[in-house]
Parts: sequence; C-alpha cells; structure tokens
Amino acid sequence: MALIVQKYGGTSVGTVERIQAVARRVKTTVDAGHSVVVVVSAMGKTTDGLVKLANEITGQPSRREMDMLLSTGEQVSIALLTMALHTLDQEAISLTGAQVGIVTETEHTRARILTIKTERLQRHLDEGKVIVVAGFQGIGQTSDLEITTLGRGGSDTSAVALAAALTAEKCEIYTDVPGILTTDPRLVPEAQLMPEITSDEMLELASLGAKVLHPRAVEIARNYGVTLVVRSSWTDQPGTRVVSPRPQPRPLEGLELAHPVDAVEFDTDQAKVALLRIPDRPGIAARLFGELANQALDVDLIIQSIHEGNTNDIAFTTVKANLNRAEAVAAAIGPALRSNPADTTQAEVMVDTRMAKISIAGAGMIGRPGVAAKMFSTLAEAGINIQLISTSEVKVSCTIAEIDCDRAIAVLCNAFEVTSSPVPHGEMTGATQISPVVRGCALDVKQAQVAIRHVPDQPGMAAHIFQLLANQGVSVDMIIQSQRCRLVHGQPTRDIAFTVAQADAPAAQALVKAAAQDLGLGDVVVNDAIAKVSVVGIGMVDAPGVAARMFRALSNQGINLQMIATSEIKISCVVAEADGVKALQAVHSAFGLAGKEAMVVPA
Ligand code: ADP
Ligand code: ASP
Ligand code: MG
Repeated sequence: MALIVQKYGGTSVGTVERIQAVARRVKTTVDAGHSVVVVVSAMGKTTDGLVKLANEITGQPSRREMDMLLSTGEQVSIALLTMALHTLDQEAISLTGAQVGIVTETEHTRARILTIKTERLQRHLDEGKVIVVAGFQGIGQTSDLEITTLGRGGSDTSAVALAAALTAEKCEIYTDVPGILTTDPRLVPEAQLMPEITSDEMLELASLGAKVLHPRAVEIARNYGVTLVVRSSWTDQPGTRVVSPRPQPRPLEGLELAHPVDAVEFDTDQAKVALLRIPDRPGIAARLFGELANQALDVDLIIQSIHEGNTNDIAFTTVKANLNRAEAVAAAIGPALRSNPADTTQAEVMVDTRMAKISIAGAGMIGRPGVAAKMFSTLAEAGINIQLISTSEVKVSCTIAEIDCDRAIAVLCNAFEVTSSPVPHGEMTGATQISPVVRGCALDVKQAQVAIRHVPDQPGMAAHIFQLLANQGVSVDMIIQSQRCRLVHGQPTRDIAFTVAQADAPAAQALVKAAAQDLGLGDVVVNDAIAKVSVVGIGMVDAPGVAARMFRALSNQGINLQMIATSEIKISCVVAEADGVKALQAVHSAFGLAGKEAMVVPA
C-alpha cells in the first residue's frame, strides 16, 4: 500500500460538481489500496476575489491581514471536499495548515516552509482516513501562531512539501490542462503535452512564467527526490513526469531554507568576443548568431543589455578553441552592420582570452533577494572585479579575469558553504526521453526593466546596488551587466540593467536614485512596457544554432531585442510588451513545438 499526495487546483474544485468529481477520484485511489493525503486550493477564482475586496478598502493592505483573508479560501474547499468524501462513505478529515503543523517563517504573504510535523497526519492515516489539507497556508514558528501564506500559486508547494515530509510514493498535481505543455495553451493553442521534463528545465520554465507549477514546488521535488506528476483533473491520461537526479539525503528541518545555493560552478576554457557599437534594430543578433551557427560554432553566454543612443553591444563566450573562428565571423560582419555607409561610428570587435566564468546555482535563490548581492559582495571583498553578469532564475554567472578564478571559487564556496564543481551535465534517474534541444518556452509580462547608466567599473558596485535592494526586500529577477565600457570624467563605467516585478519598480528606482550620488551612478530609468520571452532545454548545452534560431524567428516578425541573457539551458530576450504574445508564438513555432492538433482547455 502506497501513500499518495494529490493536489487539486482552483479550477478543479471550482464548483460543487467538480468537488464531487474530485471526491470520486480520491475514493477510487483509496479503493485501489492506497493511503491518500489531498491538498486543495481555494475554489475557482476565490483568491483573486479576496485580493480585489482588500484593494477596494486600501491600496496597501497589511501583509498580515492579507494572510488572514486569503487563507480563508482554502478552508472552504477542504471542508466541502471532506463532506463530499463522507457522502461516499469514505472516512476523511480536513485540516488547516496550522492543524497539520506546516511550520513556516513569519514572512507574511511569502512564507517559506521550515518543517512539517507528521505525527497527526500519521495518526489519521493509521485510522484509515483520507486527510484533506488546506494548501497555500502555514503557521509561523513563533509562539504567536501567526497564519501565513506561501505566495500565489503556493498550494503546489504545500503538496510537494507534504510528499517530502511523509516520504510519499508520489505527488500528483491535478489541474485544468493535460500536464505540462510546451508553452501556455491559452496563448499558443497548438502547445503540445510533454510526457517528461527534467526538474532543472521545469524550474526555469516555472520561474520564467509557466504558472502550471509553483517553482518552489519543483525545487522541493528536486531537493528531496519527490516523484512529481502533473495531470488533468478531467481525464485518466498519465500527464507529465518531472524527473530529477537522485538527491543527496537532506534533513527535513529548514525544508525550504537549507541552502539557497547548491554549487559553485566555473569554466576557465572560455573566451569572450564582444561586438561594440552595432545598430539597435531587429535582425542584428539573428545575423551574428546565424553566421556563428553556420560555422557550427557553439556559444555559451550571450549578453546584450539596454541600448545607448542608437547603438548596442553584444558579447558572447565560446570555448577557447573556437575563438579565432568566432572572432573572424564577428569581424567579417561588423562593418556590414553599420546603420548607413556614411556613419562614422564603426562597429568594433574585442576579444578576451584571459577570462573565466564563475556561477552560483540553486533553486533556493528564487525570490530571495540577497543571494546575488552576496555573490557580488563576496567577490568585491576579495578585490575581484566583475566584467559581465548574466542571470537566470536559478543561476548567477559572472565573467572575471582568469587569474582571479581560483580565489573566486574559494571565497564563494566559503560564503555559500558548498563545494565547487565544474559545469555539470546532470544524470537523470528515471528519464526515458532523449532531451530535445528546446523543451518549452514561456512568456512573462509582469516585469519591469530598470537600467542604471554609467556604473563605475570597480569592485563592489554591483554588490552595493543589489544589497541595497535586498535590504528593502526587493527581489531582482534577471540582472545584466554589459560589455559597454564608457569613460565618464576619466572613470571607466558600465551599464547595469535588471528586471523586477512591476509593483516593485518604483521602489527599486527610488532606492537606486537615492544612492546614485554617493556611488557615482548615472541615470536610473524604468520601463514597464516589457515582456520576457524565453526558451528552455537541457539539450541546448552542446547544440550550436539555438540562439540564432530564436533571434531569427523574432527578427522575422520585426521584433527588436532589448536585452538578452542566457544560462546553459535557457535563453531569455526582453522585447516590447506589445510584442510579447507574438514573440512567444513565433519562437514556439520556430522550434517545431507546435503539433498538428490543438490542445483543448476545458472552460
Ligand atoms: P491550478 O489552479 O490547477 O493550480 P493554474 O492556473 O495555477 O492551475 O495553472 C494551470 C495553468 O497554467 C493552465 O491553465 C495554463 O494556462 C497555464 N500554463 C502556463 N504555462 C503552461 C505550460 N507550459 N503548460 C501547461 N500549462 C501552462
Ligand atoms: N489559492 C492560492 C492562489 O490562488 C494558492 C493556489 O491556488 O495555489 O494563489
Ligand atoms: Mg496553480
């Protein structure tokens, strides 16, 4: 007899009939001989409705009262589902997060789970009862017993955390789509179901806007080796399996807090090529990376930050053995990229072979503002200057001088209490599929871009800026520090751009502006009207031409790229918000992800 955790989302318990259907499915699982813990969300759009009510009273409701309010939604559904189980003669009991003992930090509206008490759960399971647990909520660890919530979409995280704590055989997430699709079927109806995805890929997709799974749920599944499946509430189809490498055993204490960083990764076999002062118009990146792909030259990091005037810089890294050929490609197309023949601003190619790439990786950094700042300040304290920065949701990569690499590894391993590893190509347990180059894509329209001009190029600047934001709880998403180096009053400077949640942009701008004079920074500019479109796939690690194909698809639609940031398994481009959906559709189709049959989403 196995223990199974099943989670049903808002749409799946949206009406009385659907709650009854869920009860029947749970009963079927019990009748097959399993013990079941069910986690449910609030019915339908209840949580949105509660948020709206609060906003009708005040634009700035207290976070504590928001938790008090929002946690009621789940309490309704656990009671109703339990009653529905009783009508089927199934013994069942509903429990709130507090009654279970889902203990969290007391960070209202975004609490992380510290530990889950299993005694009461175990007792009810031994009595043969189905336990119906309210998702999304917990209880603060202090004696005040504060009600907390985990952040929107957090019921997935409750479910996977319960599965980890109970060492359940599997955690099934039942939702209103057939599983994880190549992209959001509401935006791209041709999106296809994937039978399998690695947890690393899903982590990126989830944090890049694919809301089918809460990223923190994927993180827990990966850290604790929970077997995770996403399936439809309406059918018996198998859905999608999220597969993970076999994890190191870890304690259940500090469940979500243990280690924000899993590893320090480094690569000294890379060289950088930068193309400076190229025109800022659609098609330039497509041309450069198209030509590199034609020559089968694989690129690793690609970084393009905000433009200045009407020109931009693009930098990329490649293995040292390819440097000469990559430089030749860049040099050959540089002159052809001039905006008009009379233009005197020449594009220029710069190479650097004495560089190293150093990264920190770990899903625990999602939504935790201080992690990137800590990396930057650790490097700064060691007197190490950061050249380029490119981040993904689960990784921060910097290029530094090669001679600094050993020292950088040592100080970072020490600061984050981890061991270092060269860039790994994770072995998956249970994976049966060959990894496609691009597994899926995602769109995020909820971010704003903040650009800081002319940041002095000296150790400690990035550390200062991001620490400032972290101290105020502003969570930064993508960070890009570009190649462009300008002399301002004789001082070399670089631009740094980053993205934050739209709601946080005014605060981020005000914080940086307030420090601008002290730190000698230039203008701080916010742009709300952006969209981030991303492709994800572990197969792109050794496949040349992926970036080229993405950039070509976007340029064919006349879409200009405002920023580019990459990690080993993803490429993200910032485009104008108005181009977002068109960009997603173009990229989805360019990688052949659209199948012939449209996926049907039940209303
Ligand atoms: P639930 O209430 O069950 O938690 P959510 O609304 O949180 O459901 O998540 C499911 C929704 O996620 C789908 O209806 C779909 O629109 C959206 N979605 C976004 N990206 C993807 C994707 N790659 N695959 C599947 N669904 C996706
Ligand atoms: N009800 C919560 C929300 O709508 C949690 C969840 O559904 O996962 O965000
Ligand atoms: Mg959800």
